[in-house]
Amino acid sequence: MPAEAADKPGIVWFRRDLRLEANPAWAEATAAHRHVVAAYVLEPSLLAAAGDMRRNQFLAHLAALDAQLGTQGGNLVVRPGAAADALASLTAQTGASDLYYNNDVTPFSRRRDAAVSDAVDVAHHRFWGNLVHEPGRVLTAKGTLSKVFTPFHKAWARTHVEPWPEPGPGLPMRVESAPIPSPDGPVAQAPGPDAAWARLTAWLDHVDDYPENRDLPAVDGTSELSADLKFGTLSARTVLDVVGTDSPGRAAFVRQLAWRDWYAHILAQRQDLATSAVNEVYNHIGWRDDDEGFRAWCEGRTGYPIVDAGMRQLVASGWMHNRVRMITASFLVKDLLVDWRRGERFFRHHLVDADLAQNAGNWQWVAGTGPDAAPYFRIFNPTSQSRKFDPDGDYIRRWVPELADLPRGIIHEPAAAGPLEPAAAGVTLGETYPFPIVDHKAARERTLAAYKAVRS
Ligand SMILES: Cc1cc2nc3c(=O)[nH]c(=O)nc-3n(C[C@H](O)[C@H](O)[C@H](O)COP(=O)(O)OP(=O)(O)OC[C@H]3O[C@@H](n4cnc5c(N)ncnc54)[C@H](O)[C@@H]3O)c2cc1C
Repeated sequence: MPAEAADKPGIVWFRRDLRLEANPAWAEATAAHRHVVAAYVLEPSLLAAAGDMRRNQFLAHLAALDAQLGTQGGNLVVRPGAAADALASLTAQTGASDLYYNNDVTPFSRRRDAAVSDAVDVAHHRFWGNLVHEPGRVLTAKGTLSKVFTPFHKAWARTHVEPWPEPGPGLPMRVESAPIPSPDGPVAQAPGPDAAWARLTAWLDHVDDYPENRDLPAVDGTSELSADLKFGTLSARTVLDVVGTDSPGRAAFVRQLAWRDWYAHILAQRQDLATSAVNEVYNHIGWRDDDEGFRAWCEGRTGYPIVDAGMRQLVASGWMHNRVRMITASFLVKDLLVDWRRGERFFRHHLVDADLAQNAGNWQWVAGTGPDAAPYFRIFNPTSQSRKFDPDGDYIRRWVPELADLPRGIIHEPAAAGPLEPAAAGVTLGETYPFPIVDHKAARERTLAAYKAVRS
């Protein structure tokens, strides 16, 4: 304990950093104060925005953090309400002299931080704890953020990792707390930083196969660490440190962490990433108000088995494989010509790993409207994607059980097989499984025309 450690407590305001290890705000507070209040503000709007799977995972993580703090004699002090009010009253109640927290880049968190800064009259200490590199540190030779990923990645890999502060001996203190609501349904992953650490170390057995397996949704070929990174039960730096780049598989995996930083840095600059095309000409596309098509997409009944499998996985489990996220998103935008923002919002509601920067950035990539996006004329054919990445149809069988008995030759496109073969596998198109709601070839032409119209 440094001699100057304060007798007045410090408050650490947890947000997307539900861990004590590798957490600069927690480290700095425990170095500066003998007693630290670990606070979480349960804002009604955040809970309301979350689908059931995310809500349950989040509440389970809060309980795990509370339990971890309990082993050190403290607790997680949960306060319902708006952050500015809740933190102002907690500061008054505990006599805290300082407030510590890790920054986020979303418009919501920036507005909230500004309100807290006005309302809470103690010293504020802000850190970057959720990215490998903070926004503004990965720059081109011209001193700007690269709008193209590959040069960003090169600069990112070269950028010195500024060390975070080391924790001190200060201890969490026990303060009266509102109860943490219990999850009211299944929790997708075992909660808390210890379980997240176990997922990370288990991933080391598979990371070298990442390049071969990462695009195959029927194989567990990716880390499934995205929700831990979203909630901060793991820090991206810890993942980078533990995995390293010593093999092609590890380097390919770590490259994805650079995508994550890149989209966060873009959102830090473009606060309208979820509401406006970065390439603004595409804000004028004549999107279709296809409510029936949108509903069929949401409910996984488009008649395209790979699309339906993905959407059902999303709604049932709160997660979807990256390749299938691309296929389903492309289907909504390029086959149905429905505005990418509607899909972005639907994903954001249901995904356990929902992250505004990653979700909006990737939707804009798929729609061809974002920075370094897929060119507008590259339109995924959902059936060819299905044959290529789920060749045996096992992923489809898992999530669209009414097609489970179809042979691999026709499972990707049952409507092209005529009635007999599907019937032999118990499938009656139009009754037990829908006909395709759109003809891909015609839809492709329609989309190319709509994009070309705004480009000219
Ligand atoms: C339309 C669409 C929406 C998406 N929405 C989200 C979202 O809301 N939240 C989210 O975390 N990811 C999102 N992604 C990116 C990606 O699909 C997920 O990060 C990935 O599927 C998570 O699984 P994993 O942890 O097994 O990934 P891995 O393949 O094991 O990757 C490791 C980590 O790298 C990061 N990462 C991987 N791919 C990407 C990517 N394309 N962009 C940015 N970071 C990436 C993630 O943090 C991920 O956990 C989206 C992708 C698409 C195409």
